[in-house]
Amino acid sequence: MLFSDIADTFARLESTSSRLEMTSILADFFKGLRPADLRDIIYLSQGKLHPDFYPVELGMADKMVLRAISTASGNPDAKVEELWTRIGDTGTVAEELISKKKQMSLFSTPLTLERVVSDLTKIERSEGKNSQENKVKTLTGMLHDSTATEARYICRIVSGRMRVGASAMTILDALAQCFADKESRPEIERAFNVTCDMGLIGERLAENGMDGIRDVTVHVGNPIKVMLAERLPSLPEVLERMGGRCAMEYKYDGMRVQAHIGGNSVTLYSRRLENLTNNFPDICEALRSNLKGKEAIIEGECVATDPDTGAMLPFQMVTHRRRKHDMGSAVKSIPVRIFMFDILYLDGKDMTNLPYPERRKVLSETFELDDAVGMSEMGIIENDTQAEEFFESAIAAKCEGIMAKSLSESSVYRAGSRGFLWIKYKKDYHEALTDTFDLAVIGAFYGMGKRAGRYGALLMAVYDQDSGEFCSVCKLGTGFDDAFLDALPTMLDKYKCDEKPGYIRTGLDPDVWFEPNVVLEVAGADLTLSPNHKAAFGWAKEDAGIGIRFPRFTGRVRDDKSADMSTTVSEIYDMYEMQFSDGL
Ligand code: ATP
Repeated sequence: MLFSDIADTFARLESTSSRLEMTSILADFFKGLRPADLRDIIYLSQGKLHPDFYPVELGMADKMVLRAISTASGNPDAKVEELWTRIGDTGTVAEELISKKKQMSLFSTPLTLERVVSDLTKIERSEGKNSQENKVKTLTGMLHDSTATEARYICRIVSGRMRVGASAMTILDALAQCFADKESRPEIERAFNVTCDMGLIGERLAENGMDGIRDVTVHVGNPIKVMLAERLPSLPEVLERMGGRCAMEYKYDGMRVQAHIGGNSVTLYSRRLENLTNNFPDICEALRSNLKGKEAIIEGECVATDPDTGAMLPFQMVTHRRRKHDMGSAVKSIPVRIFMFDILYLDGKDMTNLPYPERRKVLSETFELDDAVGMSEMGIIENDTQAEEFFESAIAAKCEGIMAKSLSESSVYRAGSRGFLWIKYKKDYHEALTDTFDLAVIGAFYGMGKRAGRYGALLMAVYDQDSGEFCSVCKLGTGFDDAFLDALPTMLDKYKCDEKPGYIRTGLDPDVWFEPNVVLEVAGADLTLSPNHKAAFGWAKEDAGIGIRFPRFTGRVRDDKSADMSTTVSEIYDMYEMQFSDGL
């Protein structure tokens, strides 16, 4: 198959911000593709060669990509770099320079999908002394044979920043439209949620339609999208919503991991599917040796503990583990304990369809417990006094609050969804402050006065799960210290866009736009209606969206969350409405 057909489709996707239009472009394009090609194309549309959880990324440094563009287009390095500094996207630079060169070029072999995948695989696997040179050489070869549009996407793929705007949800819609019908959409989504592998889902659908999807099951090695909790503003409301009786667990303030334990190996995934195995060798070894069965997938919260007293330490301590190079000493100086709270698979059996009480029972019978592996503290709660006492004991143990969990027959593990089967209630709500928001950075304003020459404020957004758009909710300029302000360009500039991405909604006009990637925790005084902010626009009042008043950065960068895990539009709307009840 010719790569130019694929690149042209990417260009059509990029030129529209309408999710419906993207869906129909993709659904038309998917028709008649070979299943294996469809799988590759789905990964490429996300700027990858594999599913998100694959441990190796293409991620070539921009400087290397620029060198390849320079050789392939016959332009001096300085000119290419100058253009890149101005535009900020290697793809656009390549497109512009290759399009000029093409008028003179005589010899080139049209690129096929097979060649692109094989060359990208070469780049991905290149290791050792000459690896940088070899990568540049392979990329130069591809660019030599590419059209301007192909060059645009090849450079974006190797840089790991695709930006065509087709979210996972859009691809799911397109797959359903092409290979099944609307009614089958939830079944397809569930298959994606338990495998996190859209390429696999596409391939199965193209091979066997919905029959191919029904075979997709939970298994060790394929991370499962995590289940998430709703929030309510008071403990009595939590209990009432649960029907007067529920389980409550401590809400630990650590790092959520999903552990895949199989044979002799253990892999830990973060909630954004990063591989955390090397950060917690002690936890991996403990889980492996304490498992009574052969294979399991469990979830738990990794919490740092005081090496002398065993007391739980704040979240920041466990994140140190991610930055340590000398893991041996970190394991001793920052001991970690995992508090397991769910089991999703055990020895050939999918546990996600069992109700919570059964899963909890299986979990408690499946592991030996010790200093490294524990169960989350749990109690059955039947009245407000018990709820209050359980909450107080969680706070005394240095937890964030409690997680209430439904005991009903329908309390299955809902992969990838946020619902009222789990409800969180945190100390922050108790102290009558608003909850914090996890917001994606979508833009920046240059500073003035003391902040001149640096970013002085950031434009922050929530995520609209239905449309795949990011909608602004505040301009954030408070809570930054000097070190953080200095670190902002390194953190953000790699996501700079030359123009406002089509999937961003805001009435403000920042100096710089970013592709949403970085998520920051933000506290605010309250939620208010604003014409400039576009979250839940028109829901509470015509011509107004919801904005955060007096936003303040809490100091916590949520690097455990990707941009699409930010607070959602519906959550912010619910929180806005809750202000008018007595809690938040
Ligand atoms: P938050 O920012 O409040 O941690 P979140 O968006 O990360 O929220 P939620 O589903 O809203 O995720 O809250 C549940 C989170 O709480 C989980 O992702 C997990 O990391 C953590 N957690 C701590 N203890 C438990 C527990 N006993 N059961 C489930 N989750 C727990």
